[in-house]
Amino acid sequence: MDCPVCNKPMIILELNKVEIDYCPNCSGIWLDEGELELLYSIDKSENDLRKLFEPTESEKEKSYKCPICNKRMVKTKFNNSDLIIDKCPDNHGFWFDKGELDKVLSLNANTSAQKVLSILKEMFSYNKSQEAE
Ligand SMILES: [Zn+2]
Ligand SMILES: [Zn+2]
Repeated sequence: MDCPVCNKPMIILELNKVEIDYCPNCSGIWLDEGELELLYSIDKSENDLRKLFEPTESEKEKSYKCPICNKRMVKTKFNNSDLIIDKCPDNHGFWFDKGELDKVLSLNANTSAQKVLSILKEMFSYNKSQEAE
């Protein structure tokens, strides 16, 4: 699958037993349908996680195409914050620009989300130390 921003192949990373697509070029993260719930270890059928993503108009950010169906993604506002997350109109998944997944997880954190956050932090400090070499 290619990154919707740079059109370069993404790599698969394992995050708390959930496989996510990560772009090494722009540090963006794609989550397939249902993977956000997996990161939160909650049951998709009985959660209102996706209700926290409200469609919004954002002129500031460029819109990208869903890496699965190639439809233009919609901008959603997360939990009344100023975070704008791209979402496929056909619910194939969510696109998080660099650092946005961390913010979503920390804004709406349960035990599982906190664990994922600490894994993310480790991954990024690992990347940094590699760059320094
Ligand atoms: Zn990218
Ligand atoms: Zn799609």
